[in-house]
Order: sequence, then C-alpha cells, then structure tokens
Amino acid sequence: MDLEAYRHSAESFLSVLTLEYYGHYAGLKDGFEIEPIYERHAELFTASAVDELQAIEDRAQPDSEERRRLTMLLDFAVEGYLGQATKRVEAELAVREAELMLELDGDSVGFRESDVIQANEADAERRAQIERARLEAIETQLNGLYAELIGTHHELARQLGFTSYRELCARCKRIDLGDLQEQTSAFTRRTGPRYPEVVDQPLRAALGFGLEALRRSDIGRFMRAPELDSAFPAAQLIPSFEQTLRGLGIDIHAQPGVALDLESRPKKSPRAFCAPVRVPGEVYLVLAPTGGHDDYSGLFHEGGHTEHYASVDRNLPFEFRMLGDNSVTEAFAFLFMHLVEDPEWLARHLGVADPEPVAAHGRAVRLIYLRRYAAKLAYELELHNADGSLAEFAPRYGAIMSAALEIDWPVQSYLADVDPGFYCACYLRAWALETHLRHHLRSRYGEAWFERREAGDELRALWREGQRLTPEELLAGLSAERLRFEVLVDDLAL
Ligand SMILES: [Zn+2]
Repeated sequence: MDLEAYRHSAESFLSVLTLEYYGHYAGLKDGFEIEPIYERHAELFTASAVDELQAIEDRAQPDSEERRRLTMLLDFAVEGYLGQATKRVEAELAVREAELMLELDGDSVGFRESDVIQANEADAERRAQIERARLEAIETQLNGLYAELIGTHHELARQLGFTSYRELCARCKRIDLGDLQEQTSAFTRRTGPRYPEVVDQPLRAALGFGLEALRRSDIGRFMRAPELDSAFPAAQLIPSFEQTLRGLGIDIHAQPGVALDLESRPKKSPRAFCAPVRVPGEVYLVLAPTGGHDDYSGLFHEGGHTEHYASVDRNLPFEFRMLGDNSVTEAFAFLFMHLVEDPEWLARHLGVADPEPVAAHGRAVRLIYLRRYAAKLAYELELHNADGSLAEFAPRYGAIMSAALEIDWPVQSYLADVDPGFYCACYLRAWALETHLRHHLRSRYGEAWFERREAGDELRALWREGQRLTPEELLAGLSAERLRFEVLVDDLAL
C-alpha cells in the first residue's frame, strides 16, 4: 500500500464530504449527495485496505509518531468502510428527514424544525403533542432505516473479525469503554441523591413545575430557558463572542479560512454546527440565531471547535489535523460554551448583575446532560454488543434512560438517539477534560482567565497540535492530575 497516496486521498475525501455536509445542513442545497463522493474514493474503504492498514499498524513501533498516525488512519478506514456500506441509507435518512412534515391540528411543521418549535412552545400539552407526532414519525418513517444502518454496522464488524461493533470501536479508537462506563455509572450513583434538588428550582423557573411533573417533551423548553432571555440580548450575541476572542488575543475577522455563516435560510439546520472542510484553511461556523440563551450556547460551543480547527499547525500530518480523538475538540467547544454560564463572564460581557439564576440553570442542564450521556453509554454498550434483532432493545432504552433521569422516557427513539462510533464517549471524556482544563486556566490566570492574552497563548499552543494528543496526554502536559470523570462531581458542587 502506498501510504502517502492513501493519506492524500483520505484528506481530499474528508474535505469534499464535509463540504457536502455543510451545503446540505446550511440549507444551501436540498440533496445530500455523498454516494458519488464515496464512489470517487472507493479505494480508501475496501476490506483489503482495512486489513492492510491493520497489519501495518500492528508492525509499527509502539509509542512512535508513525504508530499514532496509523492508529488514526485505521480508525478512519474502518469508519469509511462502514460508511460506504451505509451511504445510501444515510443519504435517504437525511433527505427523508428534511422532507418529512408533521401534521398538528391542521398545522404542518417540518420534522427538523419541530424540536425548535417545541422548545419555543409555552404550553406543556402542546409540547407533548408535538413530541408525540415526532416520535410517531420516527417510529413509522425512520426506524426501519436506522435499523438497517445499525444492523449493517453490526454485521460488518463481525465480518472484519471482531466479536461485536462495540469491540471494533474500542479497538480502533483505543478507548477503554468498560472503564469509562464504570466511572460514569459511579457518577450517576453519587449524584443520584441530590439530582432532584439540583434541578428543582431551575425547572420551576423555566416551566412552572418540578421533576414530579416533568416529561421528556419539556426538556427542550427547559434547556431553551426563556426566563433567561433578558440576560442574553440578540444584539450582543456576535459582539460578545468577538470581544471574548479579542480578550484571548484573537481577531476572528483576521483569521484566514474562518467563515461565519449566520444567514437565515428556510432549510438551514436549527442546530448550530462547525464544518472543518480544510484544516486549518477552511472552517465554517454555522448558526441560525433564534434568540436567547440557546444561541449563545450554540455559538460559543461551535466557536470553540472553529478556533481549535482554524489554529492547527498547517504543517502537521493530515491525521493530526483532521482525525484523532474528538474528545479533544469537544473539550475546547465545552470550554467556550461554559463561559456563557460563568458569573465572571456574564458580569463582564453582558453586564448581568445577578448571575445566580443563569449559573443554577447551567448546573442543572449539565447534570441532566451528564446523567443522560452516562445512560446513553450504558445503553449503547448493550446495543452494540448485540448479535441479531434490535427491536428487543427498545424497552431497555426506555428503562435505562428513565432510571437515570427519573422521568418516563419514551422508547421510540431507541435507534435514532444513538451516536455512531460511540460519539457519546467523546462527549463524556470531553466534559471531564474541559473541567480539568478550566480549573487549570482559572488557577493560573484567575477567574477572568478569558481576558488574559497569556491564557490565549496557552490555548493556541494546544490548538496547534490538532488532535495529535489523547485527552490523557493533553492533560498530563498541563498538570499532575489524571483524567477522571469524578472531577465533575466536585465541579457541580455535589
Ligand atoms: Zn461539539
């Protein structure tokens, strides 16, 4: 195998695929034409390419930079091998989702915008009605495609010689998923007794009722937090982001390759995202602002990704610029996202006199997310160990999620609420890494670390590395602490 040619082709494949993703989800084009892209790069994702890379990686000197690159390249090849087998289903899912309409008492609402409409709906019964319609659409229109997608991944993992998709992911990503689950389920146990108390007041402030009456259809509304809107004026959204970056020594408008896409388009995804088409040369930050606190969270999260990708050293090998463990980029995204609930940041950038309600809401949201993702990991470990029919997992999904969040969790999304390749593990590891990183920046540069150019210098030094380092290695370079999920128990003051 000509490794240099493989790397070159892999980079161009990822660029074109990400550009297609950007075009579709930014609402610039209806189609999601990924099949021809896979076809043009078919040589990257054959079973023999996967076998060869695995053999080359096995032979590479342990702990060498070459071994590090090959591990990332193998993960890319395996993901692409599964991706080419499911490209048709994925494209069909994207197009069907984009076209799907929900009928609600004479109103017709797009499937993709329905959760935003639901989050903006003040009436709890109406929210439940929108959610029922969406769940029904998932069950009748999408679950067949999801089952095909996940079933194909499971089958191909076994064909590649792994006992399960779970084992394949653990091997290729070099993550000890079992150890992570031990840590995250310990977190769920330890935070259980105080979970109701942490969420109670913020729930009442946003919804008018507490955990006892909460339904899943209310969670989006709770995250949306309309009662906090006055603290997050639309006019300050972009300026506060630009000023924060300036505090760290960054002029976003002078950064070559960074494109802010904030225009409103009918088919633009309501979810903010970052599309690193070329790293560091072409990075899109996409947002469809709708007002309020959510816009700030979305912009700062995706802004963290954008700054990370746009600051990567262009001379690094392709693998370190565009592949690697996404726990790292997610940690930088969470670091920025966390600012918009940080009392010091709120006072300095938005002039918020009493940051307590925002901080309490942020703490409750984080606890819900952490417990939800810990439960997702536990569920996905079971699901991706499966050998055969998936339908039996619907009740397991409902039971695990309901226990973690102490509400009656609907089962219909048992396949739609699954992130391919255990992406939930990236989020969980990123939350832990972000907390360590934030503590480090605070202790070194003070509560207003985000206004210190030196803090920016330190971040830029980390960003230059792309995702060359694992989260464990990144942290070891900063402090004597070991990456552990337990750090979040203290961070939430539990
Ligand atoms: Zn992210």
